[in-house]
Amino acid sequence: MIGDIRVDGVIDGEGRFNPLKTFRSSTAEMWREHTDLLDSDGLLPFAMGAFLVRHGDIVALIDSGLGDATLMGITGGRMLENLAALGVRPTEVTDVIYTHLHTDHIGWSTAGGAPTFPNATHRCAAAEWQHFMVDTKDVDEVYAGSVNAPANAFRHLNSVLDRFDTFHADGPLLAGIDVLAAPGHTPGSTVVVISSGTQRLMLLGDAVHCPVQLLESEWGALFDIDPVLARQTRNALAAELEGRDTHVGFSHVPHLTPGRIVRAQGRRRWVV
Ligand SMILES: [Zn+2]
Ligand SMILES: [Zn+2]
Repeated sequence: MIGDIRVDGVIDGEGRFNPLKTFRSSTAEMWREHTDLLDSDGLLPFAMGAFLVRHGDIVALIDSGLGDATLMGITGGRMLENLAALGVRPTEVTDVIYTHLHTDHIGWSTAGGAPTFPNATHRCAAAEWQHFMVDTKDVDEVYAGSVNAPANAFRHLNSVLDRFDTFHADGPLLAGIDVLAAPGHTPGSTVVVISSGTQRLMLLGDAVHCPVQLLESEWGALFDIDPVLARQTRNALAAELEGRDTHVGFSHVPHLTPGRIVRAQGRRRWVV
């Protein structure tokens, strides 16, 4: 709960990665400071899915998972059953807010050629729409160094084009839900801020892929279109969030469980 707003992670699929292969400039020695981020096999947990935000009449999804697909060895497909377990039918979703339009964030938008959430208004930043739906519509999506699946945004969003809206500036989007530009990972990457009373949760999208990136400013980027800008954005967010009472989530945070950044013994720690 963030004040009177309920937020739940809705897992679509999960995986685990070798930390040394994920962060190629890191060493086993460096990871010794961060064993709390690794599971019992020494691997990094990685989730795909969405966050469900419920507040009054608002039933909002932040992103829409990977869908019925496999990406980086992670198979999606569980999101709708996990949504049902939270008591929500797809027709009850009022809003889908995309942190960005990478394929693992828009996967459930269309299923079988029809909108999965037929009564929802779908939204992303105008800059994101311009990049994925206009400028690179016919170009294969390139993730830093590796070519991923062909640009999927149009395919995943084609059934919701008539219920799509874009936002152009930072600020309130819905009651209790603000958006904040966080460019770098993609041109229109967006942080979604949930706030109620004195409580706040910042959902960072893919500005961060692993908690360690909020703790170690030099560990480098994953999958960022503009790595320099992404690093600036990420480090600014980490500095702003350190020691605050703000809860922090991001799209691939382990088990979709938010945490906080605290400073202890002269260094930043991720605390769940
Ligand atoms: Zn992404
Ligand atoms: Zn992602």
